[in-house]
Amino acid sequence: MTAAHPVRRDRRAELAAALETVRGRVAAACTAAGRSADEVELVAVTKTRPASDVALLVDLGQLAFGENRPQEAAAKVAELTELRAGCTPRWHLVGSLQRNKARSVAAWAARVESVDSARLADALDAAVPRAVDSGERAGPLSVLIQLSLDGDPARGGVPAGQLAELADRIAGSGGLVLHGLMAVAPLGGDPDRAFAALQEAAGRLRNSHPGARVVSAGMTADFERAIRYGSTCVRVGAALLGDRPLASP
Ligand SMILES: *Cc1c(COP(=O)(O)O)cnc(C)c1O
Repeated sequence: MTAAHPVRRDRRAELAAALETVRGRVAAACTAAGRSADEVELVAVTKTRPASDVALLVDLGQLAFGENRPQEAAAKVAELTELRAGCTPRWHLVGSLQRNKARSVAAWAARVESVDSARLADALDAAVPRAVDSGERAGPLSVLIQLSLDGDPARGGVPAGQLAELADRIAGSGGLVLHGLMAVAPLGGDPDRAFAALQEAAGRLRNSHPGARVVSAGMTADFERAIRYGSTCVRVGAALLGDRPLASP
């Protein structure tokens, strides 16, 4: 335990209350949008948070977790296995991924939400059979294509004009299953416009890839708005786990 994560006896109660609040807000946003609450999955983003928090959330029935750094994630996955033997939550990678980490990510990720290039898709596709052969995973890897909503390559994501080609490539791979799109609302831009553009792109993608039904959009600041625009998966960190320390080691 570092100073940033003091052990607190009431941590379980704190997480239980936050989880209930967030689930309630998701349900209310679904109702307001005329949608059913079971259309939206909650992924708890546990980056910078200790495995002990993940363990408590698992105890509370939360089973999908998001991490943005492969190395931190791999260590946490291993630690959770020690804390809660037999528990197998689903881990999503939501952050940018370098191709040389594809093999290690294939060992623990149920889904990679941040695929934004053919080269990365190919690296993951090649990594999956090797992870299967060594018994680290059971089958294909679920992926989402990260769509850029602001054209800023530094923030990750494929530009809309290259989406169809990347989708076809993933769909034609043996190791990957294309399940949909992920996006992050642009900094400073109009989030409604961004989420509307994502919704439209997701509709077009489904026309050619009917299985690609996931729209992963919405974080602490904007998940209710994303649900209005058809998000089926919200990735929530701060509202569940508290504010992250500004600098992480
Ligand atoms: C950190 C992160 C989140 C969660 O953000 P919060 O504001 O803490 O809810 C969601 N998605 C991605 C890609 C992230 O990096």
